[in-house]
Amino acid sequence: MTVLEYLVPRSLPEAIGLLERHGPELLVMAGGTVAMPLINEGISLPERVMSLRSAGLTSIEQRGDVLSIGAAATLTQLVAQDGVALLSEAARNTASWSIRNMGTVGGNLFTPPPGGDVAVALLALDARVRLSGPHGERVLPLADFYTGFMTNALAADELLVEIYVPTAVGETAFIKFGRKHANTPAVVTVAIALQRRDGRISAARIALGAAGPHPIRAARAEAAIVGSALESGVIERAADTAAGECRPFRDAIATEWYRRRMVGVFVRRALEKVVEQEQDDVGEGE
Ligand SMILES: Cc1cc2nc3c(=O)[nH]c(=O)nc-3n(C[C@H](O)[C@H](O)[C@H](O)COP(=O)(O)OP(=O)(O)OC[C@H]3O[C@@H](n4cnc5c(N)ncnc54)[C@H](O)[C@@H]3O)c2cc1C
Repeated sequence: MTVLEYLVPRSLPEAIGLLERHGPELLVMAGGTVAMPLINEGISLPERVMSLRSAGLTSIEQRGDVLSIGAAATLTQLVAQDGVALLSEAARNTASWSIRNMGTVGGNLFTPPPGGDVAVALLALDARVRLSGPHGERVLPLADFYTGFMTNALAADELLVEIYVPTAVGETAFIKFGRKHANTPAVVTVAIALQRRDGRISAARIALGAAGPHPIRAARAEAAIVGSALESGVIERAADTAAGECRPFRDAIATEWYRRRMVGVFVRRALEKVVEQEQDDVGEGE
């Protein structure tokens, strides 16, 4: 079976109308970096494909204290934005330039592990997603979007439209560890966002990639460090707790055992990075 129809809606209402008319048989495609290889290899056999490229979902705008990212904005656009540094860093660490020029931020949320590096950063930043369908719109935390391995809260007649990221992010760190330095799938990805008050952690978000069925928060590790100063014993506690609570898997890149070990190592290093950044800031201020 070949693709019989390639639909290119010029607006969001048109895209939703097409989705409603054709139902789940219509394959939604953004950048196509995941979807196209599956079609070319005969794994996915859609009769109709709808591109989101021209549906008006490609802008990245700062609106007040929120960065609003269109679902079809490319990863290259995300590298270039200067509203949230953690997102530029995560996008730079995702795939290669050619894939980033095509691949979208929204598409990254659907990429199965060990992909989804940008999604890990978005999770640490407490991003929310806007979903739109024929019966209206809803906004939900990204943490509630994921429901399992390759499953999510999106209804069959809905599209992911926009991603909202608060720009008051506090202190952040991102580390992707792979078998090569660049353009490599993750053994583990860690993104951290911390707030500190009077030297103590008042809020912590530790997000992990390739350590579960989808990007996950290390909730027990977060709880273990809130209220403490960011000292070495506290960092070790967070690292050990995150390693204990993650749900890694085995694939061609790493074993489950190794990924769990690396979660501990890289949560520790990411927290140490936050401390180093603070020391650099203090040094520059002197
Ligand atoms: C060589 C290579 C290297 C890669 N390396 C990495 C990497 O290092 N890190 C990483 O995280 N990823 C990596 N990827 C995966 C991928 O490129 C990115 O995750 C990219 O962001 C996917 O976006 P896309 O727009 O191309 O998705 P598409 O292929 O267009 O979409 C995939 C599926 O997601 C769904 N979808 C996409 N957008 C929407 C929407 N707005 N609403 C509803 N459904 C939607 C659809 O079901 C669609 O079929 C790599 C891919 C390749 C081919």
